[in-house]
Amino acid sequence: MTDDVRNVIIIGSGPAGYTAGLYSARALLEPLMFAGYMSGGQLMLTSDIENFPGYPEGIGGPEMMIQLREQAEKFGLEVQDKNVEKVDFSERPFKVWVEGELFLSKSVIICTGAESIWLGAEGEDEQKGRGISTCATCDGAFFREQEVLVIGGGDSAMEEATFLTRFASKVTLLHRRDVFRASKVMYERAAKHPKIEIKTFSSVKSWLSDDSGLSGAILEDPRDGSTEEISCTGAFIAIGHKPITGFLDKQIETDESGYILAKIHTMTSVPGIFAAGDVVDTRYRQAITAAGMGCQAAMDAEKWLEDQH
Ligand code: NAP
Repeated sequence: MTDDVRNVIIIGSGPAGYTAGLYSARALLEPLMFAGYMSGGQLMLTSDIENFPGYPEGIGGPEMMIQLREQAEKFGLEVQDKNVEKVDFSERPFKVWVEGELFLSKSVIICTGAESIWLGAEGEDEQKGRGISTCATCDGAFFREQEVLVIGGGDSAMEEATFLTRFASKVTLLHRRDVFRASKVMYERAAKHPKIEIKTFSSVKSWLSDDSGLSGAILEDPRDGSTEEISCTGAFIAIGHKPITGFLDKQIETDESGYILAKIHTMTSVPGIFAAGDVVDTRYRQAITAAGMGCQAAMDAEKWLEDQH
């Protein structure tokens, strides 16, 4: 048990968290961040960020996260690379448990982001982290001169497919319909690539494997249920993300998918608890919008703390 009560605890460390850290540190609130065991969030798994203003040549995701962290730490953000296990927001100061240790805070900013969704097709669990991955940046290099699948029709799928052409001999992108959520520029980059074949109206019914691992998949046409077999030794699932809110144990209002609902600006259903970034955002989900929301949450927390006096 600690008697030390912080002004602000920030949970999570993507662009939202680091920006919240930067602003609250500069407001002299001496923020403490629990960055998670894999600090930096989803952008640690991204190759090039070309749409964050200020980087005309683009920047690597991990490089940007290191710079954001450095900048916030320079102004006094204290970072611990640990995961928050549970919280108690029923009374103030709020309680946050980390590796069994209790931390108290007058306010909390939740920036835990989102994690990849898996398909859940038959045979998937056995091949997870072997032939089947949700991160081309992490695992793409294992598939040199091999044929791989990418599943999804959004920007993530386009990005993964394009990135994988560096290694794979062929990339087949499967999408369950013929309308794509991906931005035009990213769709076209993938569609025009000579190593990428796009197959529409195609879903994975089950995965096939042999002694050496993943060997292919049974594909189904959702329009008529017809099936066909495709061979591949690697597959990358890029069908979206779900918010990381399990540790909140329903103490904050969320929508039915688990995204935190903002009530007044960035404040949640519990006064003094704020949220920013992909854990809230069902619409934009960009590094720049997450950073902007992190700034808003820090400013809202600062104002709220002032109003408590
Ligand atoms: P997304 O835009 O939600 O797209 C998910 C895709 O997966 C959709 O095409 C969806 O199909 C498909 N899908 C969902 N569940 C499926 C299932 N069970 N089986 C088969 N297909 C399924 O997700 P995202 O691509 O991860 O992008 C999320 C956000 O991040 C977007 O705002 C995007 O702009 C952003 N992002 C940006 C960049 C960049 O700018 N560099 C890179 C990556 C992501 P339906 O369309 O049929 O629903």
